Amino acid sequence: MTVRSIEHQTKVPEIRKGDTVVVLAGKDAGKRGVVDRVIRRDPSPSAQRSAYRRTSIRGGVSVVVEGLNIARRHTKPRQVSGGPNQMPRVQQGGIMDIAMPMPISRVMLVCSHCDKPTRIAHQLLDNGRRGRVGRHCGEQLEVKA
Ligand SMILES: [Zn+2]
Repeated sequence: MTVRSIEHQTKVPEIRKGDTVVVLAGKDAGKRGVVDRVIRRDPSPSAQRSAYRRTSIRGGVSVVVEGLNIARRHTKPRQVSGGPNQMPRVQQGGIMDIAMPMPISRVMLVCSHCDKPTRIAHQLLDNGRRGRVGRHCGEQLEVKA
C-alpha cells in the first residue's frame, strides 16, 4: 500500500456536522451557528433545481448552518392528497425561513476549547487514526453532535 492511498483513506474533513462555525463574509458575517449539513459532492439534479441554482453554488463543498444564510420562501396554499380513507385537504401557504447552503470557504470552525475561530491541523492520534486539532492551541476537536 502506498502512502498516498493511506492518506486518502484516512482523510479527515475540516468541518463536520455539529461543529460550531463563524461566518466570515456575506450578510451573516460575524454570526455563529451549528453546522446542520455538509454537502461534499457535486449537487444532484434535484438540488440544482432548488437550492443550488438560487445560491449559485455549483459543486465544491458547502455547508448548511442552522439559522444562517436564511432565505424566505413564500409558499402558496395547495391541495395535498390525504390517506386512503381521507379527503384531500388544503395545506396552508405562508412564509418559511430556510437555511441555504454556503461555500465552506465562507465559514471558519470555532475551537471548542478556546471559543475562537481557528484553522485546522490534522494529527495522528494514539489509535492510529487521524484527528483534527486546533492549530493555535493543539487541542483535539471533538464533534458534539
Ligand atoms: Zn483552541
